[in-house]
Amino acid sequence: MEDINEEKTHINKDNDDELSHRKTKEKSKSKRKWVIFSILLTVIVVVIGVWFLFIPHLHLLGNKKVTIRLGEKFEEAGYKATVGVKNITEKVVVQGQVNSQKVGKYFINYKVKYHNITIIKKRIVLVIDDIKPEISLQGASEIKLCPSKTYDDEGYTAFDNYDGDITNKVKVVAQEDKIIYKVSDSSGNEATVIRKVIREDQEKPIISLKGSKTVYLNIGANYNEPGFTATDNCVGDMTSKVTVIGSIDSSKSGNQELSYKVVDEKGNEAIVTRNVFVKYPSGYVPPTVYKDNMIYLTFDDGPSNVTPQILDILKQKNVKATFFVIGASSDLDYLIKREKEEGHTVALHSYTHRYDLVYSSFDNYFDDLNKISQKVANIIGEETKIIRFPGGGSNLVSKKYTLGIMSTLTNEVLMRGYHYFDWNIDCDDAGSAKNRDDVYYNVVNNLHHNQTNVVLMHDFQNNYKTLEALSDIIDYGKANGYTFAAIDMDTPLVRHRVFN
Ligand code: ZN
Repeated sequence: MEDINEEKTHINKDNDDELSHRKTKEKSKSKRKWVIFSILLTVIVVVIGVWFLFIPHLHLLGNKKVTIRLGEKFEEAGYKATVGVKNITEKVVVQGQVNSQKVGKYFINYKVKYHNITIIKKRIVLVIDDIKPEISLQGASEIKLCPSKTYDDEGYTAFDNYDGDITNKVKVVAQEDKIIYKVSDSSGNEATVIRKVIREDQEKPIISLKGSKTVYLNIGANYNEPGFTATDNCVGDMTSKVTVIGSIDSSKSGNQELSYKVVDEKGNEAIVTRNVFVKYPSGYVPPTVYKDNMIYLTFDDGPSNVTPQILDILKQKNVKATFFVIGASSDLDYLIKREKEEGHTVALHSYTHRYDLVYSSFDNYFDDLNKISQKVANIIGEETKIIRFPGGGSNLVSKKYTLGIMSTLTNEVLMRGYHYFDWNIDCDDAGSAKNRDDVYYNVVNNLHHNQTNVVLMHDFQNNYKTLEALSDIIDYGKANGYTFAAIDMDTPLVRHRVFN
C-alpha cells in the first residue's frame, strides 16, 4: 500500500516539471515571431518607400492595345512619368512608328530613366484591313441556259483595297441553279458573288424558209414547196418537227398564205409564213364566170354636177350601181357620201386621173391609189378594195410612160388584195357617142343574157347625154329580164387583156 502511494507522488512531481518547461519554451517562440514580423514590416515599409521615392513610374494613358483601320491615323493617347511626387514626363523617350498604310502589329516603346533606373513600357498598335474585296462579273448576273448545256464562264475579276488584283484567288463553284464566286483577302475578309443560272429553254426555235418569202405562181400551175429548216437553241435541228399549215389553190388568183410551225420541248412556238401569190401571166385573160342576166352600171370620173341627178334616177328606179370616183373638189364629198348611203358601191378610180403621172412609175401609181383610197375611207368610213385603172387594164396610153407597167400593176393590185374591174360594154360617152341616143344604143344593143354585163359610163362634168339615156337604159333592162346590181367582192371579174 505504501509503495503505491510513493509511486504516485513521484509521478506528480515529474508532471509539474514538464509543464513549466513547456511554458517557457512557448513564450520564447512567440517572442521570435513578433521580431520576424516587425522586421518584415519594416522591410516592406522601406521597400515601398524606396519604390515610391526613388523608382520612376511610367503610366500609359489610353489602351495598351490599340486597333486602327488601314489608313486611319494612329493618335498617341499620352503617358505620364513620375518619381515620388515629381513629374518627369518630359524625360520619357518614345520609340517606334505606326505605318497605317500597312497591315501589321506595331510596338511603341516608352522609356524613362531616373536614378539609373530604366523603366520601359510598350503599347501594341494593330493596323487591320476589314474591307471586303470586290468581285465583278463579266456578262449577265442572271443567265439563261439550256437544261443540258454547260456554261462557259464569261469571266470575272476580284480586286481588294489592300491586296489589289486577286482574281487568281477566286474560287468558283458551279451548282445547278447558280455559280458561286468566292474570294478572301490576306486579312481574311471574304466576298461572295452569285451568278444565277436559269435552266430552261426560253427561246423559240428559228424557222428558215428556203427560197423567197413571197413566191409568185402562175394561175393553174403546181406549187412546189421550196423547203425550210428549223433549229432550236436547245434541241438543235427540228426540221422534221415542222408542220405546214394551209395549202395552195392555184386556180384562185391573189395572195395565199402558208404557215410553218414548230414547237420545242418547252412549248416555245415558232411560226413563219410564206406568201404565195397566184398571178395571171402577162397578157392572160381570165375566164369569166358569168352571172347570167346581170347588169352592173358603172360611173367613172365623178362626182360632178350630173351626179345628183344620176343618183335621183337610180333612187327612183330602185337600181344600185357602182361609182369609180376620182379626187374631185371636197365640195362634192357629200355626193360620195350619198352614193354610199343610198346603197351604191363607192369604188376607187384615181386621185388625179393623170396618165402621165399615175403610169410614170410603180410608186406613183400606188401613191395616187392610196390617196383616193384614203379620201374615200375618210368620207364613207370604210376602206374599199374595188378599183378600176384609169383607162382600164387594157389601156395602151401607159406604154408612153412606162413599158410593161400594166402587167406589173395588174398583178400587184391583186397581191394587195384589190379586185380590179374593166367592162364589157362601153356606152362610149367619153368617146364617139354624141348624144342621148348614141349612149342608149351603145348599151342596149350590146347587152347579153348569158353574161355578166359590166357597163362603162361616166358621171363627169356636164355629161348630160348619159344622164338623159340612163332612165331608158334601166327601163329596157328591166323589161328584158335583166337584174341590176352594184359590184361587190363576189362579182365575176370582167377584165381586159393586158397589152402593156
Ligand atoms: Zn376614167
